[in-house]
Amino acid sequence: MRDDNCIFCKIANGDIPARTIYEDDDFRIIMDAAPATRGHSLILPKNHYANLFEMPEELAAKVLPLAKKVGADMIEKLGSDGMNLVQNNGEVAGQTVHHFHLHLIPRYADGCKTDVTWSHADLSDAELDDICNLLQ
Ligand code: 5GP
Ligand code: ZN
Repeated sequence: MRDDNCIFCKIANGDIPARTIYEDDDFRIIMDAAPATRGHSLILPKNHYANLFEMPEELAAKVLPLAKKVGADMIEKLGSDGMNLVQNNGEVAGQTVHHFHLHLIPRYADGCKTDVTWSHADLSDAELDDICNLLQ
């Protein structure tokens, strides 16, 4: 379940060193090499799944509790005031490493600012109704 050409497979399984803040049988949580803020980290499964849609549900269900645990540590130990969880799927969505990862980006009221933002699409009420109907 590993991809020999995948850098996150190598990191998650300890073949390439990375600053690890947590590890269990299924996951390694590492500090991002180019952090957006103080403490920016990534939850990596040890097995290779290119994105969320390839992950088994039982494994995906373990990700949010981990984010909650590490996020609480970031509040307590780093003094962060909030946190963004970012998870990109597909190049068009900004994914650059095609091994599932959840970004944990602690936010600070003072200092260490970053942007996690998007512009707003101009959609009519009719278009919004159509989209809603399609997704129901
Ligand atoms: P994406 O754009 O795919 O959602 O995010 C990929 C993230 O992985 C980026 O924030 C990038 O800084 C981080 N990253 C890429 N290569 C490495 C690496 O070799 N080590 C670590 N620790 N982070 C990496
Ligand atoms: Zn991988």
